[in-house]
Amino acid sequence: MSSKLVLVLNCGSSSLKFAVVNAVNGENLISGLAECFNLADARIKWTTHGKKDSTNLPPMSAHSEAVAYIVEHIIKKEGSLASQFVAIGHRIVHGGEKFTHSVLVDENVINNIEECISLAPLHNPAHVLGIRAAQAAFPELPQVVVFDTAFHQSMPAKAFMYALPYALYKDKGIRRYGMHGTSHLFITQEAAIALDKPISELNIISAHLGNGASVTAIKNGQCVDTSMGMTPLAGLVMGTRCGDLDPSIIEHLIAHEGYTIEQIMDILQKESGLLGISGISSDFRTITEEHLKNNPRATLALDMFTYRLAKYIASYAVPLGRIDAIVFTGGIGENSALVRQKVLELLSIFSYHVDVQKNETTILGKSGIISTPDSPIAMVIPTNEEWVIAKDAVALVEQSAPVCA
Ligand code: ADP
Repeated sequence: MSSKLVLVLNCGSSSLKFAVVNAVNGENLISGLAECFNLADARIKWTTHGKKDSTNLPPMSAHSEAVAYIVEHIIKKEGSLASQFVAIGHRIVHGGEKFTHSVLVDENVINNIEECISLAPLHNPAHVLGIRAAQAAFPELPQVVVFDTAFHQSMPAKAFMYALPYALYKDKGIRRYGMHGTSHLFITQEAAIALDKPISELNIISAHLGNGASVTAIKNGQCVDTSMGMTPLAGLVMGTRCGDLDPSIIEHLIAHEGYTIEQIMDILQKESGLLGISGISSDFRTITEEHLKNNPRATLALDMFTYRLAKYIASYAVPLGRIDAIVFTGGIGENSALVRQKVLELLSIFSYHVDVQKNETTILGKSGIISTPDSPIAMVIPTNEEWVIAKDAVALVEQSAPVCA
């Protein structure tokens, strides 16, 4: 099998995830994480051919130093790997309404990503730093940007609008954008293959359950509704994020309890969700262990997580009409048989029944159907966002290549 290698970069404000991905089969040749940017203990860890390694970066290193280290000390050690790169692919959190699909990078694209900074103030500036660093390291290679919001741009207005004065949408861009689009797109493509249906006829509900979590209704292969909002704070109960909330709570805490807006945003983003409810951890494995030891707050966190997810899934029967499959993915969706069982039990009104044995064994990167033959289909598909980015990058580069007569 031939290979088409793409360096995939996912730049956060204080970290950078990277991977060298073969776009042909999704194989990760190298993957790693540089973190603690702009701090004395900036560092990097990576895996090559299954072998783990790590080192400190020079103190106060950030995106450009990390990219330079990745190129000089990790990629170049792998012989002629860099010379096989077809493109650099960047994950971009927010494309607003400007981007409905992935695009090749030019100055205009960078300007448009910068114009979306108010919608993702931590992420989009970091993405631009990452693009600039990659351009400096690989001036001859095309750069491609893949947006987490793009897949959700097909939502109709009745799904993406908030019931606020219309001018707040029209003049200020206040609307639901949705996130995790790259993962939900991958799940759509893989579910179509698994269920042997054309994407254009596929109706699924994709539940991406990681530290961040979102659920998306996909009709005829296109997103028609999703649980995240203008930002990733809305929707499901997450690791540390609260998800849906009565907005008056914020006013109440400021007016009557003396909180500042900064304190409240910290609470909603970093101290809520599974961590806030349980008081123990945002990590689902710990929540599960404590639940099994009869810790009541861990059980409450688990119950709230599954209850809200099941309610969202049930509500998506409205836009979909027919549901070909519910698909679980992300660290929790791929590994927690307990969550899947509880959610499907809560959906028994739709006649879902779990195949207990298949559910218990479909973990650790396996995909497959976890419902009984007499039940509507529920399944697990491990997500692979890096592969989507690599495939999109290669497709755009190949489309833009001059065709010889
Ligand atoms: P991120 O959103 O950061 O990419 P992941 O998709 O890796 O996160 O998911 C992380 C979550 O998956 C954590 O809550 C972790 O506890 C959970 N998880 C991982 N493995 C298991 C497991 N075996 N059982 C239950 N939860 C798991």
